[in-house]
Amino acid sequence: MERYFSIKIRNSLEGKHISGSERIVKESEIQDTINYLYNRAKHKPADSINIKINQIKNPIINIKKTLKIKEYKFDSYSEANRFAIDLLNNITGIDKLRLENLIDLIHKGASSDGSNMRGAMVVDTKGNRLEFDKRKGVRTTEIDFKNREKIEKELIKKGFTKRTADALALTTKNLHHPDIIAEYCISDEPDYLTGYVSTKEFYNRLTPLKEKGNPKGGRIYFVKENTDIKNLYEYLTETPVLIEELDFD
Ligand code: AMP
Repeated sequence: MERYFSIKIRNSLEGKHISGSERIVKESEIQDTINYLYNRAKHKPADSINIKINQIKNPIINIKKTLKIKEYKFDSYSEANRFAIDLLNNITGIDKLRLENLIDLIHKGASSDGSNMRGAMVVDTKGNRLEFDKRKGVRTTEIDFKNREKIEKELIKKGFTKRTADALALTTKNLHHPDIIAEYCISDEPDYLTGYVSTKEFYNRLTPLKEKGNPKGGRIYFVKENTDIKNLYEYLTETPVLIEELDFD
């Protein structure tokens, strides 16, 4: 049986993280993948490019289909956030004021020093935050599509971008965990205004979900009450997941 490897690339400038990507590939695909990732990375203003290759030892979970993509357009980001809050209130039962406060924190920089968290907030259905480290949050890793090239082509044909592929893979892994019931996300890129709210079935893309020019972004993972947080972290950070197909209606 062919071995699988995780490849992670990270660009930074003067010690500050600029961008990163990851892939899960067969041993025979490592060389091509590194070339591809390096070619993309070298155009970024970075003074350090870190490439890490690790053999995957944990069993890989195969997910057959991504969440279904739905798109919503709004006149303003406040309107989109009201829609997001209604949806999250329905799913989680958390009262709207608490949801508004949590989302507000993401828009203002949810780390304790007002910067962006590197990972996601974890919030249970009582509205309590459960992350081990509230400055950093938890990062979902070990995730890719089985045939990324094909998936990216299909998404581009439908008018989406490669960025959609990354977000869709990440949120599909998250929502596959039995205890994660919803996710809220806005990018930390000032001009990328599309965000999303995922549910067990849908990846709901909302535009605009943040104010133009805002450099703040983040994610909230909503989980069931009594979630075993250690088990959740293990799944998000250590369990490799490969997704097979897009799910279009
Ligand atoms: P991005 O979708 O890359 O623009 O990221 C938006 C925000 O989501 C970041 O500012 C982080 O707070 C958070 N984030 C980024 N990557 C991850 C990840 N792999 N897992 C959890 N949260 C993340």
